[in-house]
Amino acid sequence: MATAPAAADPTTAREWAEEVRRLARSRDAVILAHNYQRPEIQDVADHTGDSLALSRLAAEVDASTIVFCGVHFMAETAKILAPQKTVLLPELAAGCSLADTITAEDVRAWRAEHPGAVVVAYVNTSAAVKAETDVCCTSSNAADVIRSIPEDREILFLPDQFLGAHVKRVTGRDNIHVWMGECHVHAGIDGHTLRERVAAEPDAELYVHPECGCATSALYLVGSGAVPEDRVKVLSTGGMLSAAEKSSASKVLIATETGMLHQLRAANPATAFEPVNPRAECHYMKMITADKLLATLRDGTGEIRVDDETAARARRSVERMVAIGTPSRGGE
Ligand code: SF4
Repeated sequence: MATAPAAADPTTAREWAEEVRRLARSRDAVILAHNYQRPEIQDVADHTGDSLALSRLAAEVDASTIVFCGVHFMAETAKILAPQKTVLLPELAAGCSLADTITAEDVRAWRAEHPGAVVVAYVNTSAAVKAETDVCCTSSNAADVIRSIPEDREILFLPDQFLGAHVKRVTGRDNIHVWMGECHVHAGIDGHTLRERVAAEPDAELYVHPECGCATSALYLVGSGAVPEDRVKVLSTGGMLSAAEKSSASKVLIATETGMLHQLRAANPATAFEPVNPRAECHYMKMITADKLLATLRDGTGEIRVDDETAARARRSVERMVAIGTPSRGGE
């Protein structure tokens, strides 16, 4: 029986990958991996991407089972968009510190304090929270979602305080109330670290990837002029990969979770891609290990369940976002 790959043992790694692929075929499963997953998980997956792109893929592919290598709210979003499919998460405890800052009950209580307000939720939220909201958004379409709401309507924006502050600034609206949630990983990409790293590397480019809560603080800082604008590119997953392929820079600093580096380094080995902070790592994402992926495929464990009513209400909120505009960059 194949065991999890040992970094120094390519034979074990190959046997593990072959066993994963064999089990996926026998289960009629497609493996989706978020960009922040461990390198071996990204390499063995059928598709990698941001959470919304992966959730849409989950709905489109023919496979009856989706093995989602990411965190819990992402697997739930896949289930919401593909309710007829079995969605498996290899580690059910893989949560999200940002999504965990707000519950469905919190949203109901907040709404009761602001009757008539429109509730806008970043996609980093549980299905139960999405079901209590009016419309979802990603980091890239948050401003468009806000602009689609009549000027005189109050807005409750949740749960990311940095994305909330960013959209407040770019839309110039002052009737937006922002939930003070944050992702623990963003603390590693704070203004001080960002300024220091950019100043110490005057020839390096800076890519900001506001895909998850971990980099929305960097998005906010760039918008406030904390680092020279001409050196910064704010990019989606796809945009970042194509910029990496074309880059002639000797070094590029990356303001996002470190998992993204795996694909960037493969896309252009001639450029040195370095994290703004190598400790900016999401330990929830790294809870999906080679062993756990194998066990899920073998035993069918980690099934995600969302009750029909919650799923229908949450889906409505996601679909409203899609109707306003397809995210052009950055899922979450
Ligand atoms: S990086 Fe932050 S926002 Fe993204 S999944 Fe991890 S804890 Fe959640």
